[in-house]
Amino acid sequence: MALMAGDAAKELALERIRILISSALKLARTSEIFADKQAHLAKKIAMRTRVRMDYDARQLYCKKCKKFIIPGKNSRVRVGGTNTKSIRITCIRCGHTYRKILQGSKVHE
Ligand SMILES: [Zn+2]
Repeated sequence: MALMAGDAAKELALERIRILISSALKLARTSEIFADKQAHLAKKIAMRTRVRMDYDARQLYCKKCKKFIIPGKNSRVRVGGTNTKSIRITCIRCGHTYRKILQGSKVHE
């Protein structure tokens, strides 16, 4: 991929997004509204700066209503069959169910 002048800005945006996501996850325990705001802001930054969020972060948004999904709080997580390496996540807000594939082992690059 060609490097452009905006790379430093993107790097910074990604950093801000990560901070927002992790604080959204922390806030989720106490305030869903605040968590939502942080998550929304993170998404806005990503769109405005056209950065691609981390895979894990992207999984935190409902594919349909685009809202922040708080694992175990406003979503239902269901593990598939015994050997299935996927879980099903249901967004409580819009009822959309989607599958998340789990990696068998964590691979560090
Ligand atoms: Zn939804």
